[in-house]
Amino acid sequence: MELATVYREAGQDGVRLAATFRPERGDEFCVHFQFPIEARHLVDRESDAFVPIGLAAAMASGESLRIAMPVSSALAGNLDDLQDLFLLSAPTPLSRVRVEGVVPRARPALDAPVAALLFGGGVASWYSLLKHVNIPLPDEAPLSFLAHVTSLSGPRPASVPAWIAEISAATRLEPVCVSSNLATRFPLDWWGTLRPALLASVGLALGGGINRVIVPSARPPDAQGVGGGGLGVLLPRLMSSERIRLAEDGLEAGRMEKIGLVIRPDPLALRNLRVCHHGPDANCGECADCIRTGIELRAAGAEPGELPFVRPWTDAAIDVADTGDPGIRRALEEGLEWLRREGAKSALADRIEAAWRRSEIRLAKAMLKRAGADVPAD
Ligand SMILES: [Zn+2]
Repeated sequence: MELATVYREAGQDGVRLAATFRPERGDEFCVHFQFPIEARHLVDRESDAFVPIGLAAAMASGESLRIAMPVSSALAGNLDDLQDLFLLSAPTPLSRVRVEGVVPRARPALDAPVAALLFGGGVASWYSLLKHVNIPLPDEAPLSFLAHVTSLSGPRPASVPAWIAEISAATRLEPVCVSSNLATRFPLDWWGTLRPALLASVGLALGGGINRVIVPSARPPDAQGVGGGGLGVLLPRLMSSERIRLAEDGLEAGRMEKIGLVIRPDPLALRNLRVCHHGPDANCGECADCIRTGIELRAAGAEPGELPFVRPWTDAAIDVADTGDPGIRRALEEGLEWLRREGAKSALADRIEAAWRRSEIRLAKAMLKRAGADVPAD
């Protein structure tokens, strides 16, 4: 396929950075990122923003990628390594492809450095947001913008504007809601294994007025699977340009520490934490991501009524939690450790311990079974 042209256009509902792709077969089509009109001075005009997603999409289709416009020298020099890392994070459906026509071009840095944080609303995002708002680093560009990807297909969920408005008002950051048609043009796992490419592209699209993009990251093994962030922590650096530095953030703390020390004590974060991708607007309270987070928040001291779930939380959820889910198993183990740190006894700790024991037995049985042992059924 060819990344043929990149252009910026302003409309009534915002500013778009758009690219024309020409596949080997079929008609050409546009992929765009749309920004609010107030953010027009931040939006780039160059091709860089479409290189990470274009490369991932080409690797998914197996077609070579031809880039008809100049690309940032830094980014152009990393395309080979990027393919290696994409392959590691998403062994299927990607394959290595030829990249042609790349003309590297160095771009001048911005005069007045400004930073944006890519905010998804989950545990890593809240940790990085509160850290940078409360403890600004003296040598770094000041954090001024809160960028949030609202939708990759169709309209954004109805609750997003009020949600992001409350957070940006409380943190005094300018909100930048970004939507795209990416998933309708390239239907790939952009929120899972290809998330680093998506976030890099959104970050690079802000190259008109921002020079540092903070990418909240979970360190392994908090990050589920390599593409969920474990390997993603290496990727931002490779996708930076000389104009925009993408910087992974938050690797110094584990998930339970982020929840216990930063999110649980902060009413704004606790109320507005979003960990669930089921249901359009808010945390369902029933999926593995919600149950995992519920266990962690309870262990960190949050009351059941404080948990930000649509379905009211009861600790009975711990008794029936899916102990085969790696995230839930980790929440049980770390939640228990957190509660038992000072030797405190509680009914909640006993309950979590019972579930954790079940998960250990289940794990041991699965390992024995794999080794060929005759294991009695549950
Ligand atoms: Zn959920």
